[in-house]
Amino acid sequence: MRIGIGSDIHRLAGGRPLMIGGIEIPSEKGEAAHSDGDVLIHAIIDAILGATASGDIGALYPDTSPETEGMDSAMMLGSVIRDTGVRIINLDTTVNLEKPKLRPYIEAIRTRLSAITGIPVRNISVKAKTAEGLGPIGEGLAVSAEAVVLVE
Ligand code: MG
Repeated sequence: MRIGIGSDIHRLAGGRPLMIGGIEIPSEKGEAAHSDGDVLIHAIIDAILGATASGDIGALYPDTSPETEGMDSAMMLGSVIRDTGVRIINLDTTVNLEKPKLRPYIEAIRTRLSAITGIPVRNISVKAKTAEGLGPIGEGLAVSAEAVVLVE
């Protein structure tokens, strides 16, 4: 058994889709990013890479590479699970976003993450927090996520 931690943050910008855990959330702003910017999946990928001491997402998928431009993060997560050969026991995550409120989408996100990772929904936790108006998250300038994973 091994444990890993991951985090990510992206700026929010108008005219971009807000991707969270493989789901597009209706929103005025989305992640400004080289890939699709899915902050939750990026944190999960880094947690898996951390658990297996396999480096980090920036080394694997450089944001300077034309190959990763607009890349589907769900596909990246599938590849990382395959390449590291892990079996995920459980996943615990938090998304920090001021608006929109993610609560109505949590079950859809868990279901989507279950499909991508192949682990049961009951072993996937997705929590959502606001920053109570404080800092760049609270001001709606950014979205961030943290993930912890147990693998074997
Ligand atoms: Mg990222």
